[in-house]
Amino acid sequence: MDLDILQAFQREITCAICVHNLIDPVTIGCGHSFCRPCLSLSWEGAPNPAHCPECREPSQQRKFKTNIVLKNLVSVARKASLWQFLSSEEQMCGTHKEKKKMFCEVDRSLMCSLCSNSQEHGAHRHCPVEGAAADQRAKLEKQMRSLWDKIQENQRNLREEQIMINHWMKLDSDTGICASSEKNDQHRICRASPVLYKEEEKHLEELERESWNILQQLKRSVAQINQKRKQLKEMHEELMGMCHKPDEELLQDLGALLMRSESVQLHMPRPVRPELSVRAITGLMDRYIRYRVEISFHNEVSNQHIRLFDDLRDFTFRSHSQDQSLNPEKSNYFATWGDQVFTAGKYYWELDVDDSWDWALGVSRDYPIRRLGTMLVSGDMFLLACVRQDNQYTLWTTSPAIPQFVEKPVGRVGMYLDLQCGSVSFVNVAKSSLIWKCRAGSLCFPVRPFVITGHK
Ligand SMILES: [Zn+2]
Ligand SMILES: [Zn+2]
Ligand SMILES: [Zn+2]
Ligand SMILES: [Zn+2]
Repeated sequence: MDLDILQAFQREITCAICVHNLIDPVTIGCGHSFCRPCLSLSWEGAPNPAHCPECREPSQQRKFKTNIVLKNLVSVARKASLWQFLSSEEQMCGTHKEKKKMFCEVDRSLMCSLCSNSQEHGAHRHCPVEGAAADQRAKLEKQMRSLWDKIQENQRNLREEQIMINHWMKLDSDTGICASSEKNDQHRICRASPVLYKEEEKHLEELERESWNILQQLKRSVAQINQKRKQLKEMHEELMGMCHKPDEELLQDLGALLMRSESVQLHMPRPVRPELSVRAITGLMDRYIRYRVEISFHNEVSNQHIRLFDDLRDFTFRSHSQDQSLNPEKSNYFATWGDQVFTAGKYYWELDVDDSWDWALGVSRDYPIRRLGTMLVSGDMFLLACVRQDNQYTLWTTSPAIPQFVEKPVGRVGMYLDLQCGSVSFVNVAKSSLIWKCRAGSLCFPVRPFVITGHK
């Protein structure tokens, strides 16, 4: 072929990012093509839309099919250069003066066909070099894809865990519940009954110790996920390096690398979901029941635009939001406000949540809230919410939004509203345990009971 044509051809099959022959080529919307791994790396963490690394055209699409034509052209070029390599004088078999056209899978070496029939190699599996190279390269590309998936999975886990730590730290600074030596009792406890106060205080002290442990567990988990991320990334780089090698080198070096890559993908650290132990508090229910009121609900709002649960899922699994396949199906949610407005005093009521999820209950400021999208940060709603994603439940309290690492209540949830202290408590009735008590003084306005449930 004419040298100019050859050079033009070579340019067409060269990736603009790594400046090597295209590996697993994909063509994006603007028409430019890149190695799949190069594009993935280039777009990693980039906001949507991402931009073409060459012409900067925005691209909404993130998933692409392999461009078969380009892939075949690259393979033609590889074969030509392999052939050139095998044809050189110094590559001829020293004994038989023949081209080394065969590949021995056991020794991972090249040899001429006469050598491959020799006694030494009698029990080995041998195949033509070209086929072996294509086969090994396909294995390598498959390995790179699976490694990349693991890197993404690991990244999701890392973000999820960091979000949990951030919320947990916020909880610490907001309420002094964990890891704080200067706990302010008034923040969580109201001295209504000296006996109960003692029980609650004991409970909260234990909680504090446990919470500190949870934070440490989360931190250890982040360290492990980070460590794995480093290993996966290094391996990905090594595999990329291998992809760029010519066929003859790839054939000889790939075996051990594939094995290492497979082992690096084992034992992926999962995010931990530690749980505080549920402790029954003696006298808790007796105290609350004295303030029991009957609640009736009206004003049911069916609203497809209620963002509460999606927001909470976002908070917990924000990492998934870029991946459209993981978007939760939209549900209809029903929000209801209680008939009574509470302005002063103490009240207790219970609601049955069975073993369902996508529910939130508590109190809301007494004005016609229709801006439900801002529930989480409005400071107007004190809710205990339960959301599910991927068979995993997370409990949250709002104002501010904080994950609660306690067992999901089954059956009745009690709400104790103390307008004297300006606080709301949520109680796991069956376990006679305190799920959460927001700090005293948080609530200083008239409220109505509020419930929101999702129907899938
Ligand atoms: Zn590339
Ligand atoms: Zn482009
Ligand atoms: Zn030979
Ligand atoms: Zn052999």
